[in-house]
Amino acid sequence: MASCVHITAIASVKGPQRHECEECVKVGDDWVHLRTCQTCGVTLCCDTSPNRHATKHAHQSGHPVIASAQPGERWLYCYPDDAFAEY
Ligand SMILES: [Zn+2]
Ligand SMILES: [Zn+2]
Ligand SMILES: [Zn+2]
Repeated sequence: MASCVHITAIASVKGPQRHECEECVKVGDDWVHLRTCQTCGVTLCCDTSPNRHATKHAHQSGHPVIASAQPGERWLYCYPDDAFAEY
């Protein structure tokens, strides 16, 4: 299983506070899937969504790892390392 120092450092995975993209809600847009930042806990939309807020957040903030916030999905992704891991 591919992993990296950022993913290995996560002791407990942060889940979504709410099942909605915080940024899309502000502007009234829709999303497809949700991702939760493992550094600050914000839940944002995936790359299939029109606004790609999770990726924008990762690049702007430097927060490396997201978790899927989809029910039944248990995986982490690290942007700088392009690493993926199930948990
Ligand atoms: Zn990493
Ligand atoms: Zn969004
Ligand atoms: Zn963050």
